[in-house]
Amino acid sequence: MISAFETASRLWDEASTRTAPGEVACRAGCFGCCIGLFEISLAEAVLVRSGVASLPDEVRADVLSRARRIVAESARAFPGDAERGLLDPDRTEAADDAYFEVVADRACPMLELPSGRCRIYAARPITCRTYGFAWAKDGAMIHPPCGLNLPGASAGRQLQASIDIGRIDEGLGVAGEIAEELDLDPDVESTIAHAVVGSAFGPRLG
Ligand code: SF4
Repeated sequence: MISAFETASRLWDEASTRTAPGEVACRAGCFGCCIGLFEISLAEAVLVRSGVASLPDEVRADVLSRARRIVAESARAFPGDAERGLLDPDRTEAADDAYFEVVADRACPMLELPSGRCRIYAARPITCRTYGFAWAKDGAMIHPPCGLNLPGASAGRQLQASIDIGRIDEGLGVAGEIAEELDLDPDVESTIAHAVVGSAFGPRLG
């Protein structure tokens, strides 16, 4: 599992070497990509929880309070079991879109404001490690880069500086072991907020 996260970070670094000075706006304190929730895998949920568990008490309490608020306030729209923190694997795309629209303006509970620092940087999900550049799979772009990066670049240029998501092994073997331990399907999905307060992922963190 760890290698998948390290690979994601390495691929970001590799992509940045294919850019020219001034093409990448990513920097400490820029946190536009930390606003709104997104799906995370079981392996990511477990890593995020471990990052939160190791935070100082006061910081962890703030993270959990913000996560609980997001989960409670968006529970009615959540396409799954909000209390357990699990997205329904059979949810429709429309239900998915509707939920993520509801939470689109919510800051990630891990985000320290106003500094824009990630409080679980070493334990952040793969999405966070690969955001900024375009994502590609089988030679085709499947997600554009952040609008602040590669300004005015053609699709070909964006692809040239993209991250090949297919090279990231999500560590399914390990996820399978975790799933067995938690009595969950290895393919379950959650969000950062639900992963830290959902009952499916283990005992309460505080
Ligand atoms: S985990 Fe960290 S990097 Fe990822 S969205 Fe939250 S604050 Fe941003």
